[in-house]
Amino acid sequence: MYWPSVRPNKLAIFLTYLENAVLVQSNSKTDPVEASAEFYQRYASLLTGPHVQKIGFKMRGVEVTPMAFRLVATALQSRRVRVFFDPDLLKKAKAVGTYSDGSDKIRFKSADVFNTIEGTKTAIHEATHAALDASVSCVKIASSKREEGAAFIAEHWYELNNSSAYTVVNGLKIRNGPVSGLSSNAFMDIAVDLKAQAEKSGKLPVVLTDEQIRSARVAVTEYGYKSRLFWQNGLGKS
Ligand SMILES: [Zn+2]
Repeated sequence: MYWPSVRPNKLAIFLTYLENAVLVQSNSKTDPVEASAEFYQRYASLLTGPHVQKIGFKMRGVEVTPMAFRLVATALQSRRVRVFFDPDLLKKAKAVGTYSDGSDKIRFKSADVFNTIEGTKTAIHEATHAALDASVSCVKIASSKREEGAAFIAEHWYELNNSSAYTVVNGLKIRNGPVSGLSSNAFMDIAVDLKAQAEKSGKLPVVLTDEQIRSARVAVTEYGYKSRLFWQNGLGKS
């Protein structure tokens, strides 16, 4: 009476253990996969397209310009900047996207980044890091403090430029997709102001005030980023 009820349980536990072991093994074998030619083309088109080409600002020593985004687009097409999908990225880097300044590689957790506004914003974010890295070879700055905030401002400015990201109802911008209302944070406030300035003056880049730089840096710290020196070494030099 005792055994029949226990044995299957033991077997079940053993099988579960085996399954887990197989799962762990298959997970650890998931190698990053390089993006397809179509993905590279789509990424390059995004960066040379109208929503990104209206983004341009100066943040102390850092300058994000439409031209720098075009440089990244060219670098993607020539594979000087390469893109990989790594399902383990969240575990490894605690991020859905990363840019490595040394190897000039952009990594995403999955290949569906362009399916959502959030994913596309991540693509803009990582391209901004590459754009800053690229600008070094033009401007010849040996080193610069990494401005994580610049990447966040660029992705939020993109969100504002991309009208498919939201619907205007009675003058209010309602975000399309799972989150209602546009992203509301320090970066969005800055992006709204910079976009308005750019449209008024018709000129890029727009210069951030000291107060905006301070609030972007505070927000970056609140997001858990540690400040560190970022040695930008240009693209394609690794
Ligand atoms: Zn970043």
